[in-house]
Amino acid sequence: MIRHKDVYIDGAWRPCSGDEVTEVVNPATEQVIATVPAATERDVDTAVAAARAALPAWSRTAPAERRVLLERLHQGLAKRADEIAELITAEMGAPRQIATRIQAGLPIAVSESYARLLETYEFEERIGNALVVKEPLGVVAAITPWNYPLHQVVAKVAAALAAGCTVVLKPSEITPLNAYLLAEAVDSAGFPAGVFNLVPGTGAVVGEALVSHPGVDMVSFTGSTRAGKRIGELAAATVKKVALELGGKSAHIILPDADLKSAVRAGVAGVMRNSGQTCTALTRLLVHRDSYERAIEVARETAESTVVGDPTDERTQMGPVASAAQRDTVRRYIAEAVAQGARLVTGGIEPPVGLPTGYYVRPTVFADVTEDMTIAQEEIFGPVIVLMSYEDEEDALRIANNSVYGLSGAVTSASEERALAFARRLETGMIHVNSGPLNLLAPFGGYKQSGNGRELGVHGLEEFLQAKALYLPASAPN
Ligand code: NAD
Repeated sequence: MIRHKDVYIDGAWRPCSGDEVTEVVNPATEQVIATVPAATERDVDTAVAAARAALPAWSRTAPAERRVLLERLHQGLAKRADEIAELITAEMGAPRQIATRIQAGLPIAVSESYARLLETYEFEERIGNALVVKEPLGVVAAITPWNYPLHQVVAKVAAALAAGCTVVLKPSEITPLNAYLLAEAVDSAGFPAGVFNLVPGTGAVVGEALVSHPGVDMVSFTGSTRAGKRIGELAAATVKKVALELGGKSAHIILPDADLKSAVRAGVAGVMRNSGQTCTALTRLLVHRDSYERAIEVARETAESTVVGDPTDERTQMGPVASAAQRDTVRRYIAEAVAQGARLVTGGIEPPVGLPTGYYVRPTVFADVTEDMTIAQEEIFGPVIVLMSYEDEEDALRIANNSVYGLSGAVTSASEERALAFARRLETGMIHVNSGPLNLLAPFGGYKQSGNGRELGVHGLEEFLQAKALYLPASAPN
C-alpha cells in the first residue's frame, strides 16, 4: 500500500491543505493500492503563486541550461523504466507487454526528444525589418487523463519546460501514482523551485480552480470532449490560451485492393491494445461490401484469440479497463448497440470467462453498423470495434468523415499512392498510411471536436511559445 501525503509545490514536498484523500484502485484486483491527497483550491493558489514567482528567472534561462536539466530528467525516468511500467500496470491495468514498451517507453523517449530539440531550435527569426522572438507563454496548467498517463503528462511538461514555461500539473485522479514518480524525477534533476508543481485532485475542484485562475496563462488539456468544452468556457473569462487534445472515433479504411486478412487482423488487434482506451484507436473499420462477410470472420477470429487476463502476466495481450465506471460505460454502449439493431459478432456485456474479479470486458466486434447508430458516432473507450461496409471510395470517404471527431485514421491499400491520395481527403489530424507508425517528432492532435492543440516535436514546443515582433529601423541589416 502506497500512501502519499504531500503535494509538490515550490521545489518541496508539503502537506496538502485538505484532509480528503483519493483512493487508487487496481482494476485487475479491485483492491485499493494507494491513497493520494485530494488537493484544494488553497493548494492551487499556492502552486500557481510558486509557478508565477519562478517564471521570470526560468523564462530567461538559456536553452542550453534547460537542455541539461531535461537531459537529467530523461535519465532519471529511463533509470526507473521498470518501476514506471509496474506502477501503470497496477493503477490502470495496462498489460506488461505494452506497459514497458509504450506506457514507460513513450515518456522516456519524449523527454529525450525535447532535450535534443533544444540543441537546434531557433527561438528568434528575422522577417524583413522585424526580429521575431518566440517567448514562453507563462504559467501553464497541465491537466491529463489516465489512459497513457505518464506519456500525456510528459508530452506537456517536457515541452512546456523546454519552452521556458513553468507548470502546475493536475494528473488524472484515477492514475496519480506515475505523476508522483515524475515529480520525484523532476526534483532529482535539480529544476529550480517552483518551475514544476504537482497538485493531485479532482477535475471539479483542482481542475476548474486551475482553469479559472487569473495567475495561469495557458491550459494544456488532454481528456474528453465534454471536459474540453467546459474548460474552454471557463478559460474564456481570462482569455487564456487553451490547447485541447480530445476524444476520437477514428476510421480505418481498407481499400478493395488491400490484403484484407492482415489489415483486419492488425485493425482489430490495434483497437484491443490498451483495452480500447486509446484516443487514436481505429474503432470504425470500413470494408468494401464485397469483402464484408470475410472481414467479419477475420475480425471474430482475431478478437476471440486475444489473450485477456492478469496484466502482470507477460502473455496477456489485454487487461481490464481502467475503472468500474469505465467498464459500466462500455457495457452500456454494447447494450445500446444491440438494442439499436447492430449485429453482435463476438464479445458482449458478460465478463470474460474465468475472470470474475477485475473490470474486464470481452473483446467485442459489431457488424451491420449504420452511420446513425450511437456506436458509429460516439467514443466508447473500450475494446469494441465496429465494422461498416462501403460501396466505393467516395462512399468510404463520406462515411469516414461523417463524425464530429477528427483525431486519427488509417488507410490500407496495395498501392501507397492510392492510400496517400485517400488520406489527403480525410478530415483528421493524423493518418496511418499503409500501417506507417506513430512518429514522436511529428505533430499529434485533432481536427474538429478532437481538439485544437498539437503535441510532440517542434509543433508541441511551439504551443508553449508566443511570438513577439520587434520592428527594427528599416535600414538595420538582416
Ligand atoms: P476526462 O475528461 O474525464 O478527464 C481528463 C482530465 O480532466 C482529468 O484529470 C480530470 O480530472 C480533468 N477534468 C475533468 N473535468 C474537468 C473540468 N471540468 N475542469 C478541469 N478539469 C477537468 O477524461 P478521461 O476519462 O480521464 O480520459 C479519457 C478521454 O481522454 C477520452 O475521451 C480520450 O479520447 C481522451 N484522450 C485524448 C487524447 C488526445 O491526445 N487527443 C489522448 C488521450 C485521451
